[in-house]
Amino acid sequence: MIRFADIIDESVVDGLGIRVVLFLQGCLNNCEGCHNPDLKPLEGGQDIKETELADILLDRITPLHRGITLSGGEPMLQADNLVKLISIVKSARPDLDFWLYTGKLYEEVAGHPILSLVDVVVDGPFIRSQRDSSCVFYGSANQRVLDVRESRKLGKAVELKF
Ligand code: SF4
Repeated sequence: MIRFADIIDESVVDGLGIRVVLFLQGCLNNCEGCHNPDLKPLEGGQDIKETELADILLDRITPLHRGITLSGGEPMLQADNLVKLISIVKSARPDLDFWLYTGKLYEEVAGHPILSLVDVVVDGPFIRSQRDSSCVFYGSANQRVLDVRESRKLGKAVELKF
């Protein structure tokens, strides 16, 4: 089961291209100035089976969509079940790319199997004093947009060129 809060059908600010965005419910991080406080309670949102959620996400994909973004909340709290979800979606649509937002550092999550399934990780906590509006894909300057394939190949965080 996966606990989620919302799904946005079309976003252009949660990764490259037009994307379906899945907002996971629940977060134990404590970012000062959290921009999604409603998504923090672990008991909020609703539970859904991975197979049902995959069907819902796939139904929202149009020929214009580039991929799916996992945001939150803290998706890594449900990373094991997200592996199942991504695997189901990819078996139907291997052409879609996945972006994963996490308040953790890449180095903290790099060992999880989900990293073998996602293309980009936007990492790090939101830090209000470092708020940065120069890039639509993150909120504060400490956060990084990382090319997961290159990062795994080189064994260190590699920023995505875009
Ligand atoms: S990771 Fe996101 S939801 Fe969690 S505290 Fe930070 S800004 Fe809020």
